[in-house]
Amino acid sequence: MTVEQIPSHPVPQRLLDASKCPKPHVSSIEQYKAMWQESVDDPEKFFGNLAKELLSWSKPFDTVKHGSFENGDIAWFMGGELNASYNCVDRHAMKNPDKVAIIHEGDEPDQVRKITYGELLRDVSKMANVLKSRGVRKGDNVAIYMPMIPEAIVAILACTRIGAPHSVVFAGFSAESLRDRVVDCSARVVITSDEGRRGGKNIATKRIVDDALGKGQANQVESVIVFKRTGTPVPWVEDRDVWWHDEMAKARSVCAPEPMNAEDPLFLLYTSGSTGTPKGILHTTGGYLLGAATTVKYIFDVHPNDVYACMADIGWVTGHSYIVYGPLTLGATTVLFESTPTYPNPSRFWDLIQKHKITQFYTAPTAIRALRRLGDQWLDGYDLSSLRILGSVGEPINPEAWNWYNEKVGKNQCAIVDTYWQTETGSIIVSPLPGAIATKAGSATLPFFGVKPMILDPTTGKEITEPDVTGVLAISQPWPSMARTVYNNHTRFLDTYLNPYPGFYFTGDGASRDADGYLWVRGRVDDVINVSGHRLSTAEIESALVNHETVAEAAVVGGNDDLTGQCIHAFVSLKPHVEAGEGLEKELTLQVRKIIGPFATPKRVYLISDHPKTRSGKIMRRILRKIVNGEQDSLGDISTLADPSIVEQLIQKVHGDN
Ligand code: ATP
Ligand code: MG
Repeated sequence: MTVEQIPSHPVPQRLLDASKCPKPHVSSIEQYKAMWQESVDDPEKFFGNLAKELLSWSKPFDTVKHGSFENGDIAWFMGGELNASYNCVDRHAMKNPDKVAIIHEGDEPDQVRKITYGELLRDVSKMANVLKSRGVRKGDNVAIYMPMIPEAIVAILACTRIGAPHSVVFAGFSAESLRDRVVDCSARVVITSDEGRRGGKNIATKRIVDDALGKGQANQVESVIVFKRTGTPVPWVEDRDVWWHDEMAKARSVCAPEPMNAEDPLFLLYTSGSTGTPKGILHTTGGYLLGAATTVKYIFDVHPNDVYACMADIGWVTGHSYIVYGPLTLGATTVLFESTPTYPNPSRFWDLIQKHKITQFYTAPTAIRALRRLGDQWLDGYDLSSLRILGSVGEPINPEAWNWYNEKVGKNQCAIVDTYWQTETGSIIVSPLPGAIATKAGSATLPFFGVKPMILDPTTGKEITEPDVTGVLAISQPWPSMARTVYNNHTRFLDTYLNPYPGFYFTGDGASRDADGYLWVRGRVDDVINVSGHRLSTAEIESALVNHETVAEAAVVGGNDDLTGQCIHAFVSLKPHVEAGEGLEKELTLQVRKIIGPFATPKRVYLISDHPKTRSGKIMRRILRKIVNGEQDSLGDISTLADPSIVEQLIQKVHGDN
């Protein structure tokens, strides 16, 4: 199906029916358009008002917006002072101490903990005092390497309380990746746990920290604070390691929040590394917090009695903005999920939604595709009627997965919000608003407030205004939550985002805009394939493949070709229990010809057991690209791969028979 043929889904009537659902914060397309227009024409007024409405300032700001892309000196809410932990905890704890802030669903379905705002305030304050007692001062970076437990949120907010930027490292990373990140940010304190639990297995978190810190440069670390999650005995380094519970018991449960300038760093976070060496993206306090809160309010349309659930890991930006900062700034109830979508069986998400009466559910296309692949029977008998909004993030979502999510999970009664953004953007920048914007499967639709996207011609850098042309996606004016720099490397920040197209923020993604002004993000610019002068989006070819009943996931990359410039190589994994019958490759090739056209015919189709994925579940196409082009000896940084052993299998598959 081409873009023009994909039907538009109106806002589900149920969401606009006051007897069934709370009135959406934005409830018509006209209202959205008026708000968006104001947000880009008069950002000072629009965001100045929002910043006063949604955030509490200990000192009011005097300038809303400052700086430019040309000068790389973006700043928002200058002169203003606030504290993120105060905004996320104190002010709600004062008003509503018994409201549940965090619902923790542990690895086993019967392990549920509920933490109120009152309890959260005491824990965050204690931990803040513990950090102070370990010598952490305002401006010192703290590394956090923790599983998905409430203490991870306590650790994050304790850092922000005393003005110590945190660097959360996903607790699935190897010792080496952890060491690189700890060294890069010169952390002297690391917060971790004895072990993690995930999918019924123990993960040796503390041992990985020991390995990371043991050698050479990471010796700078003076304290490791260890939370006891499983109780399994762990090696101990005297004078360096302390138990979380021992320190907490000694600490006072009151700690005044440190007033921070709006432009003081809040955290740094490394990108997932799909395209190269991860970058330490730095976010500041005021603009970031406003972006997180505003998007949760308008895109997830959070209301006071909602139970909001984001399935990302806190080690990714999605976890930062949409488990911790956004929902807590608004005083909402946020779900923290320790397990996996398939443990103890593939009904786990549905069980979670039914049990906690979840109203907003946010996950990634990779999880949706995996569950679709396992079959619809896992949804049978679950009551999912509490749901209003279903979110997707991380990759373009192919229409087959979108439709499945909409029909099987949402029962055609929920808004699907395909949210496009990046670690660097801080919060969602393109997405439907559930009560206002009609959706189309595979499109993130329209820009969020303050975001003015443009499609540029990749060679000339000129704006393309005609519909249905693919170009590079750029943003033409600063918005509050955008990253301010790459940690310790402002040149890399300028060279990656602001210098490629002067006057614009360059996303690195390709996109097109259809006749309705909807944006279709096609993936990385370097994933666009040029066959005999036709510019083909990998996402579209992949979608054609996933359309075939046997296919679970597909990744397409360009190989060098003497005749056509580039040619298409398709890597396909099949649904379980599907036999790769004689001639399936041929059939899949025909499928692409039929759906897109003969010029898109793949040169090779490889049936593989799984794709090379980052630990956040994204397919690393650059590895496939290198392999098909015979560059398997220079794969670059593969430390962020979930399963590095897959690389050898892929090389065998592609080159084995020569
Ligand atoms: P690195 O920058 O290190 O290569 P990464 O880009 O994968 O890693 P993230 O910041 O986590 O790290 O991911 C942002 C990217 O994910 C976007 O640039 C885009 O390519 C993709 N993406 C995220 N959400 C969507 C979406 N809804 N639709 C299409 N693409 C998306
Ligand atoms: Mg990126």
